[in-house]
Amino acid sequence: MGLNDVTQAVTKACEEAGRDAKEVALIAVSKVQPLERVEAVLEQGHRLFGENRVQEAAGKWPAFRDRFDGVAVHLIGPLQSNKARQAMELFEAIHSLDRPKLARSIARLAQEMGHCPDLFIQVNTGEEEQKAGILPAETDGFVAECRALDLPIMGLMCIPPVDETPSLHFSLLKKLAERNGLSGLSMGMSGDFEQAIALGATHVRVGSAIFGARVTA
Ligand SMILES: *Cc1c(COP(=O)(O)O)cnc(C)c1O
Repeated sequence: MGLNDVTQAVTKACEEAGRDAKEVALIAVSKVQPLERVEAVLEQGHRLFGENRVQEAAGKWPAFRDRFDGVAVHLIGPLQSNKARQAMELFEAIHSLDRPKLARSIARLAQEMGHCPDLFIQVNTGEEEQKAGILPAETDGFVAECRALDLPIMGLMCIPPVDETPSLHFSLLKKLAERNGLSGLSMGMSGDFEQAIALGATHVRVGSAIFGARVTA
């Protein structure tokens, strides 16, 4: 597809849902992509990107930020507590706040550093063993815990199980967010961002549809 096609598809999905396209942020997920492809998307004017590993982002984004103004990079992959400081220095937002210990580490560092990225709580909507995230039933309590720590919680994030209808998970995430007074919904990837927009996504995370298939080593 490419950036222009995806941008148009986002606009169309917004129109169909009766939403303002400005309400939906398109996060171009650049993990593992060759630098030339990322550079091409920057040259086209896109400025919002997603990475799933701290180390990989640290190796790539400082140089791009020197060359391109207004870049924002969001962490969308798992974060170890011992990398929290580095992540808070590198990213404008973290979409993978998934446990109390990490919340406490980020809160302590935010005090010390005097700033904190926007945070999304990752919810394991499919209750999958192997997947990170707060369980749906524990979400209200965890949101309250994060608020007590003064963390800037912008919304919720989910990655639906591969073999299930994503819309059920998007609806559940929306319900959990509304119940907790949260407006941000980070949901939808290359295969399902249009459905996610129809169900209220404010941040869609799209990789392969923009950059092409990931070339993994
Ligand atoms: C890789 C990744 C994406 C993008 O996936 P595509 O299917 O390539 O669009 C979105 N969200 C997360 C958390 C990811 O790790």
